[in-house]
Amino acid sequence: MVEPITLPSRERREEALDAAGYNAFNLDADDVFVDLLTDSGTGTMSAEQWGALMRGDEAYAGSRSFRELREAVREVMGFEHVVPTHQGRGAENVVYGVLVEEGDAVPNNAHFDTTRAHVANQGADPVDCPHELARDPDADHPFKGNFDVDAGWELVEDVGAESIPVVVLTVTNNSVAGQPVSVANTREVAAFADEIDATFVIDACRFAENAHFVREREAEFADATVAEIAREQLSYADAVTMSGKKDALVNIGGFAAMDDPDLFEAAKQRCILYEGFPTYGGLAGRDVAAMAVGLREAVEPPYVRERVEQVAELGRLLTDAGVPVYEPTGGHAVYVDAESVLPHVPKERFPGQELVCALYLEGGVRGVELGGFAFPGTDRPDLVRLALPRRTYSREHLEHVAETAAAVRESAECYEGLQIVEEPPMRELRHFSARLEPAAASPSAD
Ligand SMILES: *Cc1c(COP(=O)(O)O)cnc(C)c1O
Repeated sequence: MVEPITLPSRERREEALDAAGYNAFNLDADDVFVDLLTDSGTGTMSAEQWGALMRGDEAYAGSRSFRELREAVREVMGFEHVVPTHQGRGAENVVYGVLVEEGDAVPNNAHFDTTRAHVANQGADPVDCPHELARDPDADHPFKGNFDVDAGWELVEDVGAESIPVVVLTVTNNSVAGQPVSVANTREVAAFADEIDATFVIDACRFAENAHFVREREAEFADATVAEIAREQLSYADAVTMSGKKDALVNIGGFAAMDDPDLFEAAKQRCILYEGFPTYGGLAGRDVAAMAVGLREAVEPPYVRERVEQVAELGRLLTDAGVPVYEPTGGHAVYVDAESVLPHVPKERFPGQELVCALYLEGGVRGVELGGFAFPGTDRPDLVRLALPRRTYSREHLEHVAETAAAVRESAECYEGLQIVEEPPMRELRHFSARLEPAAASPSAD
């Protein structure tokens, strides 16, 4: 699909941002020129996927589209059983609802927001075990997404192996700037889970992007294909949770997959309760069909190479324009270091959120803050994520983004930070709906 996009006038952008309460989530997408808010479900489907969509089988039970998905999951990921769900968080609800109980602890290289919420919703404690260099935006390491197994063992000492029913590995590591996880690390995590008798789940949302990095960076796999690496890496897991909106290249959908028949049976029951009958899982048959095709396309050359290289190219364009970014760039997004772009804005005035607003004002570009505004009470660095939708933008769009960011950097002193005017009761969710205003406009700053 192709659709026109336009850059609204500066005046319109000022109005739109003001009406949105300086929160890019509140903008109308029509007022955005280059939309890098997320890569989740925002990509373009292929001709093959649109063809599959037309042929989707809408049978309530036993749909042919479901069998196509099951075959694709068996061939691409190597799991016998699949439970489709409306999106990735549905898969998390199905799997963690079965495996995790109140008082448990669940280690993960880093929990994605919805994973954290589902573990917490079971009354369990989500514990991050990131690589020691994960939070350093300048450290050079090929696999900053890895799971720190020593931290896993420390958790065992603290709470006891019997309180850890599941060990999770997120590939790529979304909460650590989309950094990849090596196969060697995957083997170590599998051995750790095995030793403590826990189920090993891979959050496989970006498994194809991760396989590409393994091919480029892990000597053992230099001659393997992305499809072979993906199969190898996932073979160590007992189960996967998957968002189809990422590496299954669709606009909506997800699934859980596993070999163990008992886990499959239990997951199916929970699917019926929350998602729908287990051959459609809350999706139209046509969406299941398009997801089956997308899953195969994700590991076919040259798709994923071009995808990851496009992200790296955006990183280079920004660096060349003097805009500091998290290094090395990961799989799906470039993370701009807002504290370096706006060094004069103190943390309590949200330099990351101010940079999001500045990018919109300057060039109609929409990104998202993942720092002190989105994660109150943590000491996260203020990063702004620019996530690239799959198969969507061209190099000219990336150049526009880099020029916009450079213009912001050059007029940095115009941006003095923001303050919150209104926020929802749950602080963890405030970045989705809070309203802000320029800090300089407040009476106290006059
Ligand atoms: C997007 C995502 C999820 C959740 O998937 P949804 O389809 O948004 O529900 C879970 N884990 C990771 C790593 C993700 O990126």
